[in-house]
Formats: sequence, C-alpha cells, structure tokens
Amino acid sequence: MKKVLFFISGFLFALILGALAGAYWYSRSWEHSLFIKPLNYFPTSKKQIALTFDDGPSTSRTPKLLALLRKHNVKATFFLLGKNIEKHPEIAKQIFQEGHLLGNHAYSHKRLVFVSPDFIRAEIEKTDSLIQALGQKEVRYFRPPFTAKFIFLPWVLKQMDKTLVTGTYDPPAEYNLPYIADSISTQVIDHAAPGYIVYLHDGKNADSDAFIQAVDSIIVQLKSENFEFLRLDEIENSEK
Ligand SMILES: [Zn+2]
Repeated sequence: MKKVLFFISGFLFALILGALAGAYWYSRSWEHSLFIKPLNYFPTSKKQIALTFDDGPSTSRTPKLLALLRKHNVKATFFLLGKNIEKHPEIAKQIFQEGHLLGNHAYSHKRLVFVSPDFIRAEIEKTDSLIQALGQKEVRYFRPPFTAKFIFLPWVLKQMDKTLVTGTYDPPAEYNLPYIADSISTQVIDHAAPGYIVYLHDGKNADSDAFIQAVDSIIVQLKSENFEFLRLDEIENSEK
C-alpha cells in the first residue's frame, strides 16, 4: 500500500512539475500564447522589415533617433512607456508627428506576471490615454515589458482587442556592456530576413551616439540589400 501511494504521489508531482514547466515555456515563447496568437513575424516574401523601439521616449536617444529616421526617410514603431510619455510629452508628440506608429509598452515597465487583471488593465488603459492625447486615436499594438506574458495578460489583451506583439529578433549585443555599435548592427544585419520584427531600445540615455551609429549602419546596409522599413500596421496591411 505504501509503495502504491509513493508511486501515485511521485506521478502527481511529476505531472505538476511538467505542467508548470510547460506553462513557463509557453509564457516565454514569442510564437505562442494562451488565448491569442502573438504577432512575432510577418509571413511575406517581400524584403520588408519592421524596426521597433522600446521603453522611450528618452531625452537623448529618442531625439537623435528621430533625426536619423527623418534623414533616411524610414518609419518605425515605438513602444512607449506611459511614465516616460508623462516625463517627456513633447518628445513623445514629436514621434507621432513625424509619422511613426505608437504602441503601448505599459505604464511602469513592471513585469505583468503574477499581478491582477485589474492592475494589468490599468497599466494598459493609462498608457492608451496618454498616447491618444498625443493625437493617435487607435492604440492597437501592445508589447509586454520584458516580453513576459502569463495567463492574465493575454486574457486581458484579448478582452481589450489588442494585438500582442513579441518580435523576431532581439540582438543580444544591445544588452552587453560595453555597448558596441558594430556588434549590434552586425547581429541585426546578419539575421535580417523578410517579415522580421526587430527589437531595439531608445528608452535609455546612455551610449546614445553608439546607439545612433548602430541604427544608422542597420538602415544603410539593409537598404543597400533592398530592404524596406515599414511600421507594423503598414507591413501587416501590405500585400504578401
Ligand atoms: Zn521594455
């Protein structure tokens, strides 16, 4: 009897552990989510890429980035933090006025895992209102802080009719110190392929010249390979 109980409890333990590991893997996946299908890639044969910039606006990287994108006539998608829109409303407004798409990256950048649906909803709604006040009526795209999504977040996003955006390529060199522009641009250029959604971050002020140098090299090189840069909504609506 004892032996049987031992096996049953062992089996249940393994089952729970397996379910937790599966749920964790699912929540980390950029391709899958509970309740909704994340937008991580555009199936297209055209040489189209979406550059996305997270965590802004900042006072150093963002204005320099806007000038660079203007110079190259490139449109991108900016996932803004509500708290940073409040700090730098003029820069946030400029992003919109220059024709870029604004996405919601939550208010505080707190990881939206193991928090209540009400908390998640408040983070999204507050940031939506701030973006709408800049002039963009519809805020369809949401990217979770740290790309972390677990049960409640995708459920709330589905109820709010938002598109959950993850991405296709996040250059590891952007997280390394020292920050080396060449490493970042080389990684992005080497991985670039039709329909890719590339992650970059303009939310910091540090290394702003190196950051601009990296984005400049990416744009110049990929343009020479006949890639076209589109906003998420443009690439989604363009013909496959
Ligand atoms: Zn972020």
